[in-house]
Amino acid sequence: MKNIKNIFIKTKYDSDNLGHFGKLGGRYAPEMLIPALEELETAFNKAKKDPEFQKELMDLYENYDGRPTPLYYAKNLTKKLGGARIFIKNEGLNHTGAHKMNHSLGQALLAKRMGKKRLIAETGAGQHGLATATVAAKFGFDCTIFMGKVDYERQRPNVFWMEQLGAEVVQVLHGTQRLKDAVTATLQDWIANVDNTYYLLGSVLGPHPYPSMVRDFQTIVGLEVKQQLKENYNINQPDYIIACVGGGSNAIGIFHPFLDDKKVKLIGVEAGGKGVKKIGDHASRLQKNPKIGVVEGYKSYFIQDQDGQIQDTHSISAGLDYSGIGPQHGLLFQKNRVEYHYATDKEVIKAFKILAKQEGIIPALESSHAVAEAVKTAPKLSKNKVIVVNLSGRGEKDIFIVAKALKDKKWQSFLKTQI
Ligand SMILES: *Cc1c(COP(=O)(O)O)cnc(C)c1O
Repeated sequence: MKNIKNIFIKTKYDSDNLGHFGKLGGRYAPEMLIPALEELETAFNKAKKDPEFQKELMDLYENYDGRPTPLYYAKNLTKKLGGARIFIKNEGLNHTGAHKMNHSLGQALLAKRMGKKRLIAETGAGQHGLATATVAAKFGFDCTIFMGKVDYERQRPNVFWMEQLGAEVVQVLHGTQRLKDAVTATLQDWIANVDNTYYLLGSVLGPHPYPSMVRDFQTIVGLEVKQQLKENYNINQPDYIIACVGGGSNAIGIFHPFLDDKKVKLIGVEAGGKGVKKIGDHASRLQKNPKIGVVEGYKSYFIQDQDGQIQDTHSISAGLDYSGIGPQHGLLFQKNRVEYHYATDKEVIKAFKILAKQEGIIPALESSHAVAEAVKTAPKLSKNKVIVVNLSGRGEKDIFIVAKALKDKKWQSFLKTQI
């Protein structure tokens, strides 16, 4: 938006200079990567102070990505639920369909400034790989995406698009052939090629400076909300902001500009899967006996067993199906600044259907977790209250999963005719 000039804002929930969010965060990386992380930190700090960098980024946000995304008053949904007024920040209208483009563009621009020639990333479901392959094509980087063999085989549509965009998609054959093995392979590649290669991270995770940097590139979402509420609806501040939390990038992006304003209640929604009682059924890090650990370069809450072994997770939405959570969310949880709730797969499908039918908006399954929370919360509040829901992405990508969950017979016979 024309009068947003500075996305680099500070709150009292920031990290110290070494990336510690209280006792969480930090930089627990192999020694060989420390110089690369220091180089990145220096380049990022320099870019933050350079008005040209922000100008270029704003131009990309506006003219490539399609920002600002609308803040839309969901009148039908509000009426149906009969309580607080619900506004939807529609990040599904970003280029490629989700908020991921915000931090992918920021990091690609930084990689260009650093003189890097190649982007690498790991991906599970493929959405992060797709965003990385997209910016690699746009900026002319070589691009390698690592995927566990299991994911590679399940996610053919995303692999197909990554390849069309010019990326090389590498199957990782060791371990369980899933996301964490892909992370290991990406780190090994980075160590070997650190001179010309930029590791593009997909959420507010990993060693310092990634959690703060990815957050800063997502802050545009919250800053726009603040301005759109005021200018378009004459509302000074929302009463509630709700966002889904995988690693936590879309949530922190919309929360960050409101963190110091205690009157704004913030709710992060984790994936409740089939229920949060049993390990393996869900991806809720903060619901039942949250446990701190150090994994993949940072200290935070992880779903783990007694011995600190990371455990399998389940969620109907691929983007929330992850065992860790960004360290700043860990701090916000400890400080009680953000409440972390969850939505089960069943509630998510129900919320998905409500939003599609009421507003003509097909939400991503990840974002449907936030919608589910709004469906629970709005009826309990009076009509003068304002809820903003961060709709992190659009749902077209989820057609296979949703059609299966709804047991759509015509879809099944369609799939058969395609074979
Ligand atoms: C990747 C993704 C998420 C989860 O990532 P966060 O870092 O928690 O935001 C949420 N929604 C959509 C649409 C995604 O693609």
